[in-house]
Amino acid sequence: MNIDGKLTAKKLRSELAVEVAELKSSCGIQPKLTVILVGEDPASQVYVKNKIKQTQEIGMISDVIKLPINTEQDELLGYLARLNNDANIHGILVQLPLPKHIDESVIISAISPDKDVDGFHAMNSGRLFNGDSGALIPCTPQGCIILAKQHLGNDLSGLHAVVIGRSNIVGKPVSMLLLQENCTVTIAHSRTKDLASICRQADILVAAVGIAKFVKVDWVKAGATVIDVGINRISTDDGGTKLVGDVDYDSVVDKCAAITPVPGGVGPMTIACLLKNTLAAAKRSVH
Ligand code: NAD
Repeated sequence: MNIDGKLTAKKLRSELAVEVAELKSSCGIQPKLTVILVGEDPASQVYVKNKIKQTQEIGMISDVIKLPINTEQDELLGYLARLNNDANIHGILVQLPLPKHIDESVIISAISPDKDVDGFHAMNSGRLFNGDSGALIPCTPQGCIILAKQHLGNDLSGLHAVVIGRSNIVGKPVSMLLLQENCTVTIAHSRTKDLASICRQADILVAAVGIAKFVKVDWVKAGATVIDVGINRISTDDGGTKLVGDVDYDSVVDKCAAITPVPGGVGPMTIACLLKNTLAAAKRSVH
């Protein structure tokens, strides 16, 4: 069966909308997200547009600062310093990827950790690693856990989770979250030997690789829960293109107990969790 990320994200957004209204009426605070977009990458423009739209739909304020592709790193740092000091802004997001002449790690470290709603700042990674409840947790990994629990219930204790991928954005943080949920976690990556047999042990299999249909049916244990993070655009026979995940969905769907489809699985959860982080940052700013 499918785990419906679209519906789950919609439910989460309506719950958040209620909390946003409550925060406004009780404390007079309306959460605000500011996004910085450097350059005109078409995919980034779409992502930013969706983030702004969904923020506003649940009653938050959001705006976007659009900067030309030749913006200097120091200029961008200047913007971040101003946003960090603006008490009316609770969440700051710099849309990645940045142009090559800008060092992403310098920019991420310059965002105030308390406003880092992407959860990429080292302070937030450290908090996540320490199991500190004050961490702003990267959005896609948060979405993966919500979707796994959607099928398995809230108690994931003792389940064997195999995560394929060790990126700072998905693989590592989702592994930390699964560990916090008392799973036994195996992190597999490009140098892992006998990946198929490791995947076959998984009660929860998270694929965050970036290779279309990489995970084959014989890698999946019958009855497993499969969380497919991948978003890959492939050509179709009629000359068009379509999005597929990192899992060979058509063959795996009948063997596993539940799987997140692509599109409509993890993807919609990412922005919903961004809204969740922005609300959390706004709430914390009250104290
Ligand atoms: P990445 O390129 O940073 O990391 C990929 C990981 O896969 C690496 O850690 C690497 O070790 C591992 N890998 C590569 N080849 C492998 C192989 N042959 N065997 C085993 N492991 C291998 O990618 P990422 O940023 O973590 O993203 C992964 C996928 O998730 C991409 O398709 C990306 O588009 C997608 N993604 C989706 C969302 C979302 O909102 N749904 C968000 C972020 C990323």
